[in-house]
Amino acid sequence: MAYTALYREFRPKKFEDVIGQEHVTETLRRQVQNGRVAHAYLFSGGRGSGKTSTAKILSRAVNCLNTIGGEPCNECEICKAALEGALTDVTEIDAASNNGVDNIRDIREEVEFMPTTAKYRVYIIDEVHMLSTGAFNALLKTLEEPPSHVIFILATTEPQKLPVTILSRCQRFDFKKISIVNISKTLKKCAEILKLDIDDGAINLISRMADGALRDAYSILDRCIADGESKITESKVRELVGIPEFEYLNEFITLILNAETAKLIDFMEKIISEGKNVEVFLNEAIKLLRDVLVLKTSNNIEGFTEKEINDMMNLVKNNDNHKLIYVITNLALVQGDMKWSSDSEVAFETGVLKVAIESNQGSASKIELGTQKLPQPSANNVPQVVQKSISTMTNSSVNIDSLKNQVLTKLKENSKMRICAVLQNAQIMKAEDEIIHIVFSNLLDDTSKQYLQHEETKKAIKEAVVEATQQEYKVKYVFNPIGK
Ligand SMILES: [Zn+2]
Repeated sequence: MAYTALYREFRPKKFEDVIGQEHVTETLRRQVQNGRVAHAYLFSGGRGSGKTSTAKILSRAVNCLNTIGGEPCNECEICKAALEGALTDVTEIDAASNNGVDNIRDIREEVEFMPTTAKYRVYIIDEVHMLSTGAFNALLKTLEEPPSHVIFILATTEPQKLPVTILSRCQRFDFKKISIVNISKTLKKCAEILKLDIDDGAINLISRMADGALRDAYSILDRCIADGESKITESKVRELVGIPEFEYLNEFITLILNAETAKLIDFMEKIISEGKNVEVFLNEAIKLLRDVLVLKTSNNIEGFTEKEINDMMNLVKNNDNHKLIYVITNLALVQGDMKWSSDSEVAFETGVLKVAIESNQGSASKIELGTQKLPQPSANNVPQVVQKSISTMTNSSVNIDSLKNQVLTKLKENSKMRICAVLQNAQIMKAEDEIIHIVFSNLLDDTSKQYLQHEETKKAIKEAVVEATQQEYKVKYVFNPIGK
C-alpha cells in the first residue's frame, strides 16, 4: 500500500474538524448555510495552520448537493469527485511553482464559461504572494468583476507582500498559530487511530517543536513512524530531530546559574567531544530558560512532564527574575558572537563561562538590571512580557559594551595603549550608583595584574572613566578565579 503522509491522511474534511481556527471556520460555515458566500477570499497565516485544508472544505461546501448546516456532506458525487481531486470545476494552483502570467490568463479565459458539473468554479491559489507582477495584474482584472459562478480562494503566509488592490477585493481571514494543547490533543487522537505506542513526553515534545504548525507536528511523527521502532519515546524524538535531552539542558543551565565553572568547562568539553551541534544546544538551552521564566511569572506552562516541571521549579526557586533574564539575554549574545566567530566552539565555551561568572557576581545581575522590573504578568500576556523584558535587557547590554568602548577610546586618546591592551578582554560595568567594576578573567597574567595595581595605572583608568561618563565613579577591579 502506498504510504500517505499523515497530514494528508488526517486532513480535516469538515469545518468543524479544522483545529484551532473556529473564528474562521464558523463564519465560513454560516456563510454557506445562508447562501452568502463571497467571490474572493484571502486566507492568511503561518504554514501548517490549516489554510489549504479550509479552502478545500469551502470548495466542497459551496458545491455539495446535500450540505448539512453549511458543512459538505463528503458523500455526494460532487464531494466524492472533489475529494479524489477529480472535480474539474475546482482548480488548485501553487503560485510558488506557477507564478507566470500565462497561468492566470488561462484562468481569465476559463472563468467566462459556466462550471461543468458543479455550481461554482473554485480557484484555490496557494502562496499567492509568489505571483509575478504581470500575473497579479491579470488576476486583478478577474477579481474586479468576477462572474457570479466563480469563487477565488487565495492563501498566503505573507499577506504584506500582496498589492493593496488585491487585498481590497478579498474577504480576509487570518489563521492563528495552533496552540500546543490543541496540537497535542490532535496527535493523541491520531496515535489512537493508528494504534501507535507513543509516550506523553514524545507527544509534548513534538507539539512544542511544531511551533503552531500542525503539518510540522505530523511530519515529525511521520519520521518517528518511518524509523520503525515499536515504541515512540521522547528520547527517540530528540534523537531523530537532534534535540538534546531535557536532563542534559537542565544540567547545563544549573551549572551556569550556580557558576560551577570547573564542572561547566568539563560539561562543555564533553558535548563538544561528543560531536553535538553547539549552536542547536545553546539555542535549546535559551528556549528552556525562557520557559522557566514563563513558568516563574505565570505558573502555567504547557508541554512538559511533571518531572520536568519539578526540575524547572527548582531553577525558579533558586534564581530571581533578574538573574534569569540576565542569563537569557547574554546567552543570546553569545549565540550572536558564535555566528561571527571563526571558531564557534571557542566562542561558545568562553562566552558561556563569562555569562556564568558575571551572573553570579553578587551584585552583577542587580548592577546592570538596576531598576528594571518585570511588568506584572497576567495570564494571557506573559510571553510578550518576557519578550519585552528580554529586548529591554539586550539594549542595556549594548550600553555596557558602549561604556567599555568609550573608556577604551579615552585611554587611546590619552595614549595609554598598554592599559587598553590589558582592558581589552575585561568587562566594564556600572555597579550601584557610584562604582564602576572592571572584571578580569583569570587568563590575565601576573605581570598585568601587578601593572593594574600601579597608582599611575589606576589614575589613568579612573580619568578615562570620568571623561567617558562625565561622572565621578570609583573604580574597582574584580578578578575571577575560573576553575582553579
Ligand atoms: Zn456533498
